[in-house]
Amino acid sequence: MSINKTFAQTQLKLSSALHSLTVPDLPHLHTDLFPMTLRAKLLAAANPLPPSQQCPRCKAELGAANKIYSQIAVCDFCGYHFVCPAFKRIAHLADTDSFHSIGHAIEPVDFLHFTDNQPYSVRLRKYQQQTGLDDAILVGRCRIGGIKTVLVVLDFRFMGGSMGSVMGELVTFAFEYARKHRLPVVTVATSGGARMQEGIISLMQMPKTAAAIQRFHAAGLFYVSILASPTTGGVFASFASLGDVMIAEPEAIIGFAGPRVAEQATGQQLPSGSHRAELLLASGHLDAITARADLPQVIATLLKATAVHPKQHHTHNIQTNKLPQVSSTTTRNTAWESVQLTRHPQRPTARDYIRYLSPNFLELQGDRCNGNDPTIVTGLGEIKGRTVLFIGQERHPATRQNSEEAAQIRPRPEGYRKAIRMMKLAAKLHCPLITFIDTIGADPSIESEQHGIASSLAHCLSTMSSLPVPIVATIIGEGASGGAVALAVADHILMLQNAIYEVIAPEGAATILYRDASRARQVAEQLKLTAFDCLNLGVVDAVIPEPPGGAHIDPSSVMQALEQHLLYAITNLESVPVKHLLTRRYRKFRRYGYFQHKHYLEIRAFTNILAHLLHQLQNPLRARVSSLVARLTRPKHSFAT
Ligand SMILES: [Zn+2]
Repeated sequence: MSINKTFAQTQLKLSSALHSLTVPDLPHLHTDLFPMTLRAKLLAAANPLPPSQQCPRCKAELGAANKIYSQIAVCDFCGYHFVCPAFKRIAHLADTDSFHSIGHAIEPVDFLHFTDNQPYSVRLRKYQQQTGLDDAILVGRCRIGGIKTVLVVLDFRFMGGSMGSVMGELVTFAFEYARKHRLPVVTVATSGGARMQEGIISLMQMPKTAAAIQRFHAAGLFYVSILASPTTGGVFASFASLGDVMIAEPEAIIGFAGPRVAEQATGQQLPSGSHRAELLLASGHLDAITARADLPQVIATLLKATAVHPKQHHTHNIQTNKLPQVSSTTTRNTAWESVQLTRHPQRPTARDYIRYLSPNFLELQGDRCNGNDPTIVTGLGEIKGRTVLFIGQERHPATRQNSEEAAQIRPRPEGYRKAIRMMKLAAKLHCPLITFIDTIGADPSIESEQHGIASSLAHCLSTMSSLPVPIVATIIGEGASGGAVALAVADHILMLQNAIYEVIAPEGAATILYRDASRARQVAEQLKLTAFDCLNLGVVDAVIPEPPGGAHIDPSSVMQALEQHLLYAITNLESVPVKHLLTRRYRKFRRYGYFQHKHYLEIRAFTNILAHLLHQLQNPLRARVSSLVARLTRPKHSFAT
């Protein structure tokens, strides 16, 4: 290292050390060594909901006599969700008496001497008296469904849940604490954004909290973000949007700018339904919308699913020879018969398999970018007590969804981006990834081109190739083209007996080759697309038997067989160290293709000549051997007739 470089580095270290010494602690925080727990409990008692309130939707008068309103601030009659005090939230979400505050009690200070129609310091005291809180946040550790969790709850009643230095500090502390103790975090956001009365320092809470969460994510820990009405501004654009799973309450107002600010900035009136949770779900920014009453159960299920490391489960000791196999006497369908069967309207789809394998499947939605594609179903589930992440191509979303979605049955970039999000979640949670392939191909529309269909497929391929968890893919129906293989970069690949796996659908191939789609049947045979063809070509590892007539005749028998194969594959793959698993996966796909070395071709030419010579010698030799055998076995005595 040169002297100049060493000098420069020393100077840099010295200057940063001096900087840390000379910059004084910000004067706007003071800590109090008394834990908040006792104060919080005392203040909670003096902090009820308004004694009576009219429901803005159904106009019912609500009060202490209304049980649901009293407990969780939801209208007993129409389900309207009111703003909920933080104490009530905690009582609702945390297991009984399990919540304990963490950190020290800190309060905001009017360090800018900010005054609008009243000084900030006066305003602070007013809200503290009204709400019983030091600021718009409570932070603690608790149990939810028995799982230890760090819980962060905002309170909109305290200056609109705005984020100043206290909220930023406590959110950051909560994630640092959770990282240190390896706990999941649940936050409940409700906020108007950054607190103007603290100026630029409140803006700095956005990078501060985001950075803490980035470290938390890097440590492989799990974060559930709940968005209540309203959630806007700096809170929505920082920690509240960084959850592994994002859930909103029904009809919650959620947006970066907030409806009033957006109308003012754009000069246009907003359409109804803008800034609502439902729009965000459809736009791919939420995993689910859940009623407040159901939140404890949903959060508990999520935390339980993600809290147990898969290797803690029982292993399933299944022998290869006990796996359901296709009988050697089974009549094998022609390629075209398989094409027809695989497209049968009653054939089970990905949702059917997921529902069978994991009745408590938790669907997670959205690509966090542009939309939610119903033709790719993703979420957390379990197979025989083992947490897994499912990604399935759903051929018939129309039968379960609305008519608008019925029109499109090809997966779009949004679906593949959602899949990539789930792959990364599987890696983070160390749980196996199970994919189901069933598509006539990825969507070729101009809209999908604009949204990057090829790029999303390519990123699926590359992400799966290096995903550090076992991957098992099953081709359950039609596996056509790049849209199929994008979810099939797996350690173990299964294929249903009548499924097909193809570079292009036969109709498409016939159109390209003969300009005549009616010759699809002929092309289907040529493409070698059946399960047995793929097994012979080494593209799949096992074929799952189907009953005569196809999987729809007896779906449960197919699902049982699939479950056995999946458990066998997962158990075996989990015993392989990750490094070896990734090397094996790389080699598995590295070997596809027929390349022959020059020397191999020379040796093969020589052996061909040798075989030809032997063949020529074969007839005279055979004649000699025959006559010798005839002479030796000729009877000693013969009776003339
Ligand atoms: Zn109501």
